[in-house]
Amino acid sequence: MANIEQLRPMDAAPAATFHTLDPSTGAVVATFPVDDAGSVERAVERAQAAAVWWRSLGFAGRVPHLRRYKSEIARRIDELADLVHRENGKPHGDAVLEITLVVDHLAWATGHARKVLGPRRVSAGLLAANSTASVEYQPLGVVGVIGPWNYPVFTPMGSIAYALAAGNAVVFKPSEYTPAIGRWLVDAWARAVPEGRDVLTLVTGFGDTGGALCRSGVDKIAFTGSAATGRKVMAACAEGLVPVLMECGGKDALLVDADADLDAAADAALWCGMSNGGQTCIGTERVYVADAAYDRFVDLLVAKAADLAPGSGDEASWGPPTMPSQIDTIRRHVTDALAAGGRAVVGGESSVRPSGVGPTILVDVPEDASAVREETFGPTLTVTRVRDIEEGLALANDSEFGLGGAVFTGSRRRGVALARRMRSGMTSVNSIMTFAMVPGLPFGGVGESGFGRIHGADGLREFTRAKAVTAQRFALPVNLTSFGRPAKATAVTAKLMGLVHGRNR
Ligand code: NAD
Repeated sequence: MANIEQLRPMDAAPAATFHTLDPSTGAVVATFPVDDAGSVERAVERAQAAAVWWRSLGFAGRVPHLRRYKSEIARRIDELADLVHRENGKPHGDAVLEITLVVDHLAWATGHARKVLGPRRVSAGLLAANSTASVEYQPLGVVGVIGPWNYPVFTPMGSIAYALAAGNAVVFKPSEYTPAIGRWLVDAWARAVPEGRDVLTLVTGFGDTGGALCRSGVDKIAFTGSAATGRKVMAACAEGLVPVLMECGGKDALLVDADADLDAAADAALWCGMSNGGQTCIGTERVYVADAAYDRFVDLLVAKAADLAPGSGDEASWGPPTMPSQIDTIRRHVTDALAAGGRAVVGGESSVRPSGVGPTILVDVPEDASAVREETFGPTLTVTRVRDIEEGLALANDSEFGLGGAVFTGSRRRGVALARRMRSGMTSVNSIMTFAMVPGLPFGGVGESGFGRIHGADGLREFTRAKAVTAQRFALPVNLTSFGRPAKATAVTAKLMGLVHGRNR
């Protein structure tokens, strides 16, 4: 087990500090400084210097360092999972799964950066046929990563791993609920790459520290959190024309077709909706079930939910809420749904306890209820009967959010066709969240769920700027971009273009 004292930042004495608490016991896990604008600026200045070295290594030079970082995390999965359990509250096994995904993503980003981002020749086209043309994706410099608490390893590392592999330095501001986990990730980098310790550094604090990072001179902000905070981050970044990546909340739907494997669909809906206490951006919150399958599906769901319970031990299905204020939102959504004519077939208002929120399954909830429209972030599901899967898709798409989603159907081909029409960044057919386990696939949303992508080739490019280069191979007898151009040259060029492109086919 890590000695938490070692996780404390060693910088100059801070003006103010804050504690993080174990959600199960209320015990202090660690104490951190509230970094102010000055201290954030100093961190970014150090990162700017480190970014020059990191970039100079090139793809091949960075690979051994990234591999050492990956090994450092992989060898200490249990230690990090223990810290995640204490600071975030999730069961140890779930923490192990989260970290395992990160190791895989780090390996993919390391192995693919050169191929995706390195110089690539493109056709020079007709007008520049005497030149070579190439594009490459160059690092931005310093990326500020602002993270949430619900997946305190997987979520920020989705930006950090890809930003580092693309050749950037990173200054990471973890959630005020999980800074010790952030400290661990940064300390692991310093152990793995001591000569480049400032390539990945930490600042800690609340919203003001995040705001200071937006205004600190970073070259991009990768934000993960609520859409409400995302708007503030965008406003702060707009002051300096700093580009942003927005990974925000979700209200994911799971569609169940009449011919689906209902046992598998019910199992998946429960896990996707309730694991991690429902505190999952790509968690299922709404289920739409075709009429012919509805009664059987609800029976299965209710039966399977019987053994689920929150707690703090290994036997717990999920931990206590990491962020106590979320309890009020969950309670409001359940209360509103019941007042609007919904029924709780599992749990209900009495399940919403600060010590741990029990499972709640709501049926007959009107589509305009807050439990259907807003992100709940609790172990709750609304289950709605629809005429057929087409109606289910239409209701699923009628949401401000559009992050992930799932389709359960007897025909994979039909499932894929439905998935392509779902208004979301990612959809799994006959499974849930699988897209998050595929490092080569992009991750991100539409609408209130944000924009930009982490993971995969798109995730690497997100932390770069495209650079175009041409090199003239030989001079043409007639130079079109010269004041010495003969008068008839443009007429000849226009004629040539008419011959090549003028025919409408
Ligand atoms: P949050 O929006 O409250 O906070 C996110 C981060 O922003 C924290 O580090 C916080 O300190 C910082 N912050 C707060 N105010 C700020 C400001 N004015 N300027 C800059 N930074 C500021 O979100 P949360 O409660 O930590 O996380 C839960 C949310 O994150 C949910 O909506 C969830 O769906 C979303 N989420 C999205 C993804 C995704 O990949 N799309 C992944 C995980 C979580």
